Amino acid sequence: MANSKFEYVKHFEQSNATHLLPNTYIVIRIDGRSFHRFTAVHEFTKPNDIRALSLMNAAAKAVFHDLGGEVVSIAYGVSDEFSFILRKECNLFERREAKLVTTVVSIFTAYYVSLWAEYFPDKPLQRPLPTFDGRAVCYPSIENVRDYLSWRQADCHINNLYNTTFWALIQQGGMTAQEAEKELMGTLSKDKNEILFSRFGINYNNEEEIFRKGSIIYRNYAAVPDSTAETEEKAGAETAPTTTVTVPAETQKGKSRSQQKREAKKLAKAEVVVEHVDIIKDTFWETRPWIIH
Ligand code: ATP
Ligand code: ATP
Ligand code: MG
Ligand code: MG
Ligand code: MG
Ligand code: MG
Ligand code: MG
Repeated sequence: MANSKFEYVKHFEQSNATHLLPNTYIVIRIDGRSFHRFTAVHEFTKPNDIRALSLMNAAAKAVFHDLGGEVVSIAYGVSDEFSFILRKECNLFERREAKLVTTVVSIFTAYYVSLWAEYFPDKPLQRPLPTFDGRAVCYPSIENVRDYLSWRQADCHINNLYNTTFWALIQQGGMTAQEAEKELMGTLSKDKNEILFSRFGINYNNEEEIFRKGSIIYRNYAAVPDSTAETEEKAGAETAPTTTVTVPAETQKGKSRSQQKREAKKLAKAEVVVEHVDIIKDTFWETRPWIIH
């Protein structure tokens, strides 16, 4: 049916497609749809169900692996959301927004559903089934990307302090949800810390890092021994990724092509790790310069 009288409709599609701005960092954020209800139906532990957070992290790791080494540089997850930062050189789907967002949402959702039973062996999935929405935003500078991630991590902290106090008032303090909400109205962080400590003996700083800081996922380039890539190159082993991997710009300078190739291989081999650390301060970024460049 090529060149049929119907084919002109294809042109409507092309003139409507959004190609994301070149040479910018693409942030794709997905968020669970109506998870307030989803978590109630599936009886999540409140305020933080560790099984659910681990499942979110597993689905996010699957996005890294599925898209390959050169696409996602870092991801940040909290609650029912995950942000994936794509490299600025990323040219997947010619940077078509709809293709990128729907693909990430779909990979994530497929893994969330298929891995569910591993994390909730005693709780079969039921309706409403988990679904996610997604959006893409382009940021032109590293500073913008870091501020974006800082914004999400600061949000994680504020929400978690609130939720931890709210649920302590209910679960340990015997209040109703309305009473707890009223109690917390107009309180500052220090007031919530004080309620937790004086009434419930909880030191907020001793709460689990995953709850307080969220989850950071990236490729641990530094942990791959230099010799790995070298040995395999000599042996002629077929370990190269199918597409070129971007190597940090600063490490490219003054280095031979073979050195650059070795480093690209190293990045592709790097293990995808999950950490729960501060990404607002400089330390995280200074010690992991390959993540965003
Ligand atoms: P929307 O569709 O607009 O996103 P929503 O109900 O999903 O609506 P969110 O603001 O995304 O609203 O809130 C997510 C909800 O899921 C919150 O109520 C949060 O407490 C709950 N939630 C997410 N993850 C967990 C978890 N690991 N443990 C307990 N509750 C969770
Ligand atoms: P892309 O990711 O670009 O979409 P693709 O491999 O999915 O790549 P499509 O043009 O979407 O390419 O083609 C879908 C492929 O799946 C075709 O090869 C088609 O024959 C096959 N396919 C889809 N549905 C069926 C089906 N029900 N039975 C047999 N083959 C199918
Ligand atoms: Mg939403
Ligand atoms: Mg949600
Ligand atoms: Mg949310
Ligand atoms: Mg098709
Ligand atoms: Mg297809």
